[in-house]
Amino acid sequence: MIIRAKVGKNGEVILTFANEFKAMHIDIITLHPGLLESPFQHSIVKRAIEKKLADVTIINLRDYGLGNYKQVDDAPFGGGAGMVMTIEPIANCIEELKAQRTYDDIIYMTPDGERFNQQIANSLSMHQNIILLCGHYKGIDDRIRQLYITKEISIGDYVLSGGELPAAILCDAIIRLLPGAISDETSALSDSFQDNLLAPPVYTRPAEYKGLKVPDVLLSGNPKQIDNWRHEQSIEKTRKSRPDLLS
Ligand code: SAH
Repeated sequence: MIIRAKVGKNGEVILTFANEFKAMHIDIITLHPGLLESPFQHSIVKRAIEKKLADVTIINLRDYGLGNYKQVDDAPFGGGAGMVMTIEPIANCIEELKAQRTYDDIIYMTPDGERFNQQIANSLSMHQNIILLCGHYKGIDDRIRQLYITKEISIGDYVLSGGELPAAILCDAIIRLLPGAISDETSALSDSFQDNLLAPPVYTRPAEYKGLKVPDVLLSGNPKQIDNWRHEQSIEKTRKSRPDLLS
């Protein structure tokens, strides 16, 4: 059985089979490891890690800080408010990681990066090893971006205090896509944004609540009709809420 497809350097598709399957490895470099504890300890993400589909290492950048105070930041050249994360701690950390494995991408979470979406999540989920770098304060010295970063990702047009929550969001979106992470594998494929459509409405028991009934077709037991209805609802919902996805 094919477990993972990966796009090689020349655009070729490399398939990894069950007996050689290796957990996707994610290293997260952060100044606030505590912010990243809970997101990996619950639900689908936790189970995927327990099933060894993914393994996530949180690296405390403070350990790479310089001098007695383990300094990781400094005032910006040219003046102005805020501190800038310095080159050496980050560079030393990344160099140490790169000596241990080959990374498909070294990603900096940043509001001026490419806007994260399901397509990016899909393509990142095919990677074997990635590093996520979380910034803080005013961000990182630009030369780190020039020297090491291969991809820059934003989770939206707003500014957060640090890259930890964005990194957790990215990990959740990727890890739930790993084959076996969701028990019914087709489930992830029927979520919103796969196929550029929003997901149709869902219902469960009771079949009637305060006079509101579940659409008859869902109780019909006719899979073909149900599929058709869901597809129509998806299109309708997308047309109403996100027409930009259809164009
Ligand atoms: N001065 C920067 C913002 C720094 S915010 C600017 O104006 O662009 C501090 C850190 O939080 C960033 O280095 C980044 O890692 C993270 N961050 C903040 N907002 C983010 C977003 N929308 N997406 C991804 N990372 C974000």
